[in-house]
Order: sequence, then structure tokens, then C-alpha cells
Amino acid sequence: MCTGAAPTTKPLPGLSAESVTSGGMIKVNGHLQLDDPTTSHTFAIGDIADTGAMKMGRAAGLQGLIAARNIGRQIAGRSLIPYEPGVIEGSIDMSLGLVSIGK
Ligand SMILES: Cc1cc2nc3c(=O)[nH]c(=O)nc-3n(C[C@H](O)[C@H](O)[C@H](O)COP(=O)(O)OP(=O)(O)OC[C@H]3O[C@@H](n4cnc5c(N)ncnc54)[C@H](O)[C@@H]3O)c2cc1C
Repeated sequence: MCTGAAPTTKPLPGLSAESVTSGGMIKVNGHLQLDDPTTSHTFAIGDIADTGAMKMGRAAGLQGLIAARNIGRQIAGRSLIPYEPGVIEGSIDMSLGLVSIGK
């Protein structure tokens, strides 16, 4: 990470060592569950999750929505919604600013 921030996954190896990458990120499956069948009730989103998505707020927000819905669906015994990183998530909104028209 360009800011020098380091991922904090300290408690996780005790729960599911195989869900932590060598770089300290959290491995997730296509439903944002930890990539370990014994911890399928645990979800990871945002910068810490090894989703393949850009490390951006927009992506973290979308992952949060999907994870929240999947937690509800899991409790209800329904099929989970898949997550796939997309181009839009990595985009940045930029204002075009104000332009003088000479009046
Ligand atoms: C300089 C900069 C500019 C950026 N600009 C943009 C931008 O313009 N657009 C965009 O979409 N994204 C931008 N990003 C990326 C965006 O900030 C991140 O992708 C987003 O914040 C990730 O959200 P997150 O919830 O995964 O992590 P974070 O927002 O980092 O939240 C993690 C939270 O966990 C807390 N925490 C950490 N350890 C513990 C602990 N042990 N116990 C309890 N709490 C803990 C932290 O204090 C923090 O509040 C920028 C990032 C940086 C650094």
C-alpha cells in the first residue's frame, strides 16, 4: 500500500490460519465468506479482503452491502449473492468545477 498502512489480521490465524494470505490479507470466496468451509459464517470486506477489487471506498461499500445481504440470506437458508469486482468500483468521481462564460 502506498500509504505504508499494514493489514491487521492478528486474531484471524487462530480462527482460520488458511484464510490469511502471506501478505496478511483475508482470503474470501465469491460470496465474501472467509475462504475456509469451517468459517463460512464469517465475512470479510474492504481493503483487508483479498477480493481482487481495487482498494477503494466505493468497492468497500458495495462489498458491505453484499455481505450484509448474504448474512441475512445465510440465516434464512437462502442462496448467497455472488460478488465480482467491477470497473465502476475502481473509478473516482471528479467535479468538472465552475467555468466562466464571460458574463
Ligand atoms: C490517502 C487516501 C485517499 C483515498 N482516496 C480515495 C478516494 O478518493 N476514493 C475512494 O473510493 N477510495 C479512496 N481511498 C481508499 C479508501 O479510503 C479505502 O478503500 C476504504 O477506506 C476502505 O474501507 P475499509 O472499511 O476497508 O477500511 P478503513 O476505512 O481503513 O477502515 C478500517 C477501520 O478499522 C479500524 N481498525 C483497525 N484496526 C482495528 C482494531 N484492531 N480494532 C478496531 N478497529 C480497528 C481503523 O481504525 C479503521 O477505522 C483512499 C485511501 C487513502 C489512504
